[in-house]
Amino acid sequence: MRANAVRHMMQRATSAVARAGGAVTEVVYPKRCAGCRSRGAWVCDDCVDQLNLFHGAVCEGCGIPVALLRCRCDVMAPGLAAIRSAGPFAAWLRDAVINFKYHDEWARADHLGRDLTRTVADMDDLDVLTPVPLHRSRLRERGYNQSALLANVVGDQLGLPVVDALLRTRSTKQQALLSAGDRAENVDGAFAIAPGFNVAGRRIVLIDDVITSGSTINACARILVDHGAATVRAATLARQL
Ligand SMILES: [Zn+2]
Ligand SMILES: [Zn+2]
Repeated sequence: MRANAVRHMMQRATSAVARAGGAVTEVVYPKRCAGCRSRGAWVCDDCVDQLNLFHGAVCEGCGIPVALLRCRCDVMAPGLAAIRSAGPFAAWLRDAVINFKYHDEWARADHLGRDLTRTVADMDDLDVLTPVPLHRSRLRERGYNQSALLANVVGDQLGLPVVDALLRTRSTKQQALLSAGDRAENVDGAFAIAPGFNVAGRRIVLIDDVITSGSTINACARILVDHGAATVRAATLARQL
């Protein structure tokens, strides 16, 4: 059996363990602080001060705190009505997102998902949460879609349905490895509506772990808008400023 297949099986098994109870997860995947890697908590008492989530008034459109004077509404796709993020892609939150996404720390989803839940709870009039999809080859490699894990936590907390309305039809290079200029091109035409799903008239909030250039969220929003979604917004854990 190929290494990836074994890894995938193990991750599915450990996901089942995670669902069985937090105490078991703690044994299999002990909590580690993303800031200093100390054991016992996802964020330790020393690093909690680095967790500066956004607060105060934010721009209606791009969701960046007004006080920062860095509005990015000009680069949002037409029809993407609003973006909200829990905090800046910096310090502890940046390390947490990277470990969650690239270093198999999927068990962070519950902890991180709670910060995202507070962000989504401030949005009115929404019907469904839709995670930004991974291509099936990336999903096989990673074993989980970090955005789907976050969406499931938020959905559970707020009683909202999570719908995989989008597919990633083309395997793209990791956005993190590309310059800002190449990112839009990389994801252009990479998404489609999932077969059998009708987004017309739906009020959708896209869920992702982090927005950097915004190219991925813009590409997803464009597809939903083109297929008649009533409103499209996005909520992410982190936001690069
Ligand atoms: Zn720490
Ligand atoms: Zn703005």
